[in-house]
Amino acid sequence: MWLKNEIYDEIFSFNHPVIFLQACTQKYEPIKTSSMENTEAKNNPYYSRTDTTKLNVSNDEWKKILAPDLYAIAREAATERAFTGKYNEFDEIGGYYCAVCGNHLFRSTSKFSSSCGWPSFFEADKEGVYYVRDQSYGMDRVEVLCKRCDSHLGHVFDDGPKPTGLRYCMNSVSLEFVADAQK
Ligand SMILES: [Zn+2]
Repeated sequence: MWLKNEIYDEIFSFNHPVIFLQACTQKYEPIKTSSMENTEAKNNPYYSRTDTTKLNVSNDEWKKILAPDLYAIAREAATERAFTGKYNEFDEIGGYYCAVCGNHLFRSTSKFSSSCGWPSFFEADKEGVYYVRDQSYGMDRVEVLCKRCDSHLGHVFDDGPKPTGLRYCMNSVSLEFVADAQK
């Protein structure tokens, strides 16, 4: 449970009680777009799968670069509709990168089949993500963000499988999968 403890320490070092949501219920409004397809990072000068330099790009700038669905989720913490994401039922071998900046986030070996309707992982790249307590929508959750570009990725819950017991509930739109063979 080292990963969970690390998250607890990182987020709740100010002695607040931790209440993780157990259910997959989504009480907030999903964003409404005609297409929830992931959009390749085109004309994005900040995108790199090798450069890990921290980015400090304004939302005004991101809005010019990112597709509307990716902007809404990554920069405004919207959530894609359940069961619509391209990686929800997807089990190829490779890596998952931030769709905004190319930062490495997950390995396919930590992906598991969840009934929630979003791609789920039991472990994240420690160098790829950080955590913030999210009390929006009357819930107490742990938000997962990209360490390089500060984009919203999804939330992490403590009802995942072994060995970590964690369930990283991610938006497909925020992710970009790269098969090992393509590297
Ligand atoms: Zn990123």
